[in-house]
Amino acid sequence: MVKRLLILGGTGEASALVRGLPPGFEPTLSLAGRTMAPKAEPVPTRIGGFGGVDGLTDWIERNRITHVIDATHPFAARIAANAAGACARTGTALLAIRRPAWGPVPGDRWREAADMAAAVNALGAVPCRVFLTVGRQEVGVFAAAPQHDYFVRSIEPVDLAVPRLTAISARGPFAEADEVAFLRDQGIDVLVSKNSGGAATYGKISAARGLGLPVVMVARQPKPDVPSVADAAGALAWLATR
Ligand code: NAP
Repeated sequence: MVKRLLILGGTGEASALVRGLPPGFEPTLSLAGRTMAPKAEPVPTRIGGFGGVDGLTDWIERNRITHVIDATHPFAARIAANAAGACARTGTALLAIRRPAWGPVPGDRWREAADMAAAVNALGAVPCRVFLTVGRQEVGVFAAAPQHDYFVRSIEPVDLAVPRLTAISARGPFAEADEVAFLRDQGIDVLVSKNSGGAATYGKISAARGLGLPVVMVARQPKPDVPSVADAAGALAWLATR
């Protein structure tokens, strides 16, 4: 039987998975469409939402999907829930790639925040220079603390409704040395980060540690309890047994 995969992507893990797939699979990579010019991948790619659990269920059935891999970002909670719902309805095999979270190590000065609103509060009342690395869609929440100067680095346009925001156009990846230079050049006092995990964006965390800067670390929201692995290699091993 041909294995028809739907890979929910937008991450390095999804990219590694599609590049590592052996012959014998018919994969489709799905992207949300947040990035205007996404990196081309060597498999058929569809772009845009499905229309909730109903839309995803319908898409899985129409395309005779046999396996779904949820390789979305740790903070993409809605699509993960939709995948669990649609796979349960259709009886489709589902595997999630759940990248382990970062933990503090000696030298880290983390202020843990349960969500983005808590991260705003964790900045405190005293005006400071904040490097916001939360994703451009969530920058708007910080308008609630207009006393700070915010610095955002992004390829796509940023929500400029936030006062005192400096948008810097730059494309990663950023190594630790780049991050040290950035934090120093902009005179940053504090960094705000999602607890994304993984190596690709860890340079800013180790750079902050090296400079003795605090990091407001935003925790993940719970995701559905489905079979999961930590990385693309784990997903390839799972597929080999199915
Ligand atoms: P989300 O809040 O979980 O999803 C919102 C809606 O976007 C979903 O209900 C779905 O629309 C659509 N969607 C999300 N991922 C999709 C995918 N891979 N293919 C098709 N539709 C998708 O997601 P998000 O946090 O906005 O993230 C969007 C994308 O960016 C994901 O692919 C994620 O891996 C990537 N990403 C997110 C972050 C982050 O910090 N959140 C960081 C890096 C990359 P319908 O209900 O209409 O199907």
